[in-house]
Amino acid sequence: MPTHEFVVVPPTTVSLPVSGTNARFPVRRIFCVGRNYLDHILELGNDAKEPPIFFTKPADAIVQDGATIAYASVTENFHYEVELAVAIGSSGHNIAEADALNHIYGYAVALDMTRRDLQRALSSKGSPWDVAKGFDESCPCGTIYPATSVGKIDDAGIKLTVNGEVKQQSTLDHMIWNVPQIIAELSRLFVLQPGDLVLTGTPAGVGPVVPGDVMVGSIDKLGSLTITVGKRG
Ligand code: MN
Repeated sequence: MPTHEFVVVPPTTVSLPVSGTNARFPVRRIFCVGRNYLDHILELGNDAKEPPIFFTKPADAIVQDGATIAYASVTENFHYEVELAVAIGSSGHNIAEADALNHIYGYAVALDMTRRDLQRALSSKGSPWDVAKGFDESCPCGTIYPATSVGKIDDAGIKLTVNGEVKQQSTLDHMIWNVPQIIAELSRLFVLQPGDLVLTGTPAGVGPVVPGDVMVGSIDKLGSLTITVGKRG
């Protein structure tokens, strides 16, 4: 193996803790599903007949449980979206729905933080969403729970509170595309690789936060994720 010198400091591998071990899950890419719960499509005024969509965030948008994130710059409408994150454990292209669960390492609670005002402006022009979705600290994610220990979570409860008040509450069986369908669809577009994370969409109840707010996302069997909103970045 040749060794290299780098002209700038190379990035470190972003990683997440894993329940039951000191070894960590290395994050390679972050794929996200948009518009995967009917009640959320309707609350944003989108077309319920259109299929869900994919977008991405960079791996270094990950934020660890317990952290304080900056109130994102260049937005006046900084929103939470609580989501199930699926951690991919083995590579695959054109994965069949029936084989999808074999490619999953584990699951976690994540937040898809969003500059909602920029997202609306970009969407209305048909422009890419990157600056509304893929910015620094836009992907807080909790501990990964291995699928082997979690078992079936198809109908698990998913919830988000802000300062103790329930804002989002649903069950995972309200997804339009379920997890195997998401993996099958996504693997037609990308060769999935170990370390990829897939955020699976948010139920209704998304809304704004302000500096000082404490968000707690939780999913049955996957613990909780606590993130504080700090000063404007
Ligand atoms: Mn989302």
